[in-house]
Amino acid sequence: MKSKLAVIGAGFSGLTAAVASAKAGYEVDVYEKNATPGGRARQFSRDGFHFDMGPSWYWMPDVIDAEFKRYGYTATDFFDLQRLDPSYTVFWSEDEPLQVPADVDRLTPWLEQREEGAGQKLQDFLEEARKKYHLGMFDLAQQRKPKLRNFARPHMIKSVATLNLFKSMQRHIDRYFTDPQIRLLLSFPILFLGGSPRQMPALYSLMNYADMKLGTWYPPGGIYELVKAWHQLAEELDVEFHFNTEIEEIKVHSNRVTGLRSGDQSFDADSLIATGDYHHVEQNLLPKNHRIYSESYWNSRTMSPSCLIYYLGLDRKLPGLTHHNLFFDEDLDQHSDALYKNPKWPERPLFYACCPSKTDSTVAPEGMENLFLLMPVAPGLDDTENIKSYYFKLLEKRIERHTGIRLSDYLVVKESYGVQDFSSDYNAFRGNAYGLANTLKQTSVLKPSMQHPKISNMVFGGQLTQPGPGVPPCLISGRMAAQQIMGGTT
Ligand SMILES: Cc1cc2nc3c(=O)[nH]c(=O)nc-3n(C[C@H](O)[C@H](O)[C@H](O)COP(=O)(O)OP(=O)(O)OC[C@H]3O[C@@H](n4cnc5c(N)ncnc54)[C@H](O)[C@@H]3O)c2cc1C
Repeated sequence: MKSKLAVIGAGFSGLTAAVASAKAGYEVDVYEKNATPGGRARQFSRDGFHFDMGPSWYWMPDVIDAEFKRYGYTATDFFDLQRLDPSYTVFWSEDEPLQVPADVDRLTPWLEQREEGAGQKLQDFLEEARKKYHLGMFDLAQQRKPKLRNFARPHMIKSVATLNLFKSMQRHIDRYFTDPQIRLLLSFPILFLGGSPRQMPALYSLMNYADMKLGTWYPPGGIYELVKAWHQLAEELDVEFHFNTEIEEIKVHSNRVTGLRSGDQSFDADSLIATGDYHHVEQNLLPKNHRIYSESYWNSRTMSPSCLIYYLGLDRKLPGLTHHNLFFDEDLDQHSDALYKNPKWPERPLFYACCPSKTDSTVAPEGMENLFLLMPVAPGLDDTENIKSYYFKLLEKRIERHTGIRLSDYLVVKESYGVQDFSSDYNAFRGNAYGLANTLKQTSVLKPSMQHPKISNMVFGGQLTQPGPGVPPCLISGRMAAQQIMGGTT
């Protein structure tokens, strides 16, 4: 008889948890409240437009490939992958937009024009970031039970001393550069980890290496191709998916999970990997006496921002935009304050515009444009239709200022998505988009643990536990959760 493993959630971490354990011989059932796999990376289609609902940046292709290689594949066995050039465009308030080239050496003239010697300084900065990347992604991120004593290993002591792992990212960048635009450019990848450069440890300059050296990639069809690949792998291994099945209770007997309940349906399980939002699983699904953290623990966490998103279809092409576009034409600090220090709707937000139809003709009808606008907002805010329409007009004006096009004149599809949607669609604590911010106090040993402390056959996976938010970390997280359940190193 095969051991019966239940997985809650069919996002990236649930999918890799299912694949790893099915490959090791478990009978795996995945329970997912939504109708399709992907979680925050779902896709929706309307009138010939195909929108990735969440992630749009395919970074760290080596980490993603390392996960496929465990099963004898590479990513390109499932989909094409192209490196984008330019990687992205940055819009400033006054100056001409900057197209960041795939080959970082081609950025040198711009750097030198802004700050003498900045070309060489960037090389030095990225060399340090390279070392952090290898330490971070192939050592620290692979530890499912990180321990403080791991930091006492000789190579870690050396790294802490030489790589400035723990000072703030902002101070780290400021030590190298004085020019505000260069500083902002290097701060941007940190935003993926849900914190501001002032809060995040300089370990995460590893993200700059991912950005500028490893590059921005894209699978034609969208990031959903990556979801489809892992879903296909799981199905080939006979994983059974139960969509539209929201788990409402985890049954525990004598400190062991015995099953799950959804409405009046019960499911037996010999073990459980829970990849739904950690807070939701432990506070809402477990019996009270098996909760791990208190509500005050959760309320004291720094959550990543939530987002206000617009999915737009336009019946014309948009000049001036590239595939990825960062509207950094306002001050980052005042927006950061509205996200973390004094949570409120931002007055002058920075935002991101993704226009995948610039490089992919399959995501919009011919001659049209697929546009996704994302504005980070503080978690827990109340978003109303009035607020959504206010910010749409604000972002529209900013795009018009730079491109001369008024979006409303050409809209054929318009959908918005916000804080309440994250809560209701994914049971996301305070409507967070990317889990816990990777601040120093919430990194490594200080994250909620994967293993339930009392229930030996229950493990957590996903962006609120090890190693953290983002597609590559979540692929690792699900696989590590499976290894933890199996008690081995498969
Ligand atoms: C808008 C946005 C943009 C992003 N951009 C990027 C990017 O460009 N690049 C990048 O690398 N990362 C990006 N990320 C982060 C990345 O998408 C996430 O870190 C990752 O997808 C999270 O995967 P997960 O499996 O941990 O969680 P999820 O994707 O949330 O999966 C958890 C699943 O559990 C399900 N679930 C919850 N409760 C229950 C229940 N009770 N019963 C059954 N099912 C349940 C949910 O419906 C969900 O499907 C982005 C995220 C967002 C939201």
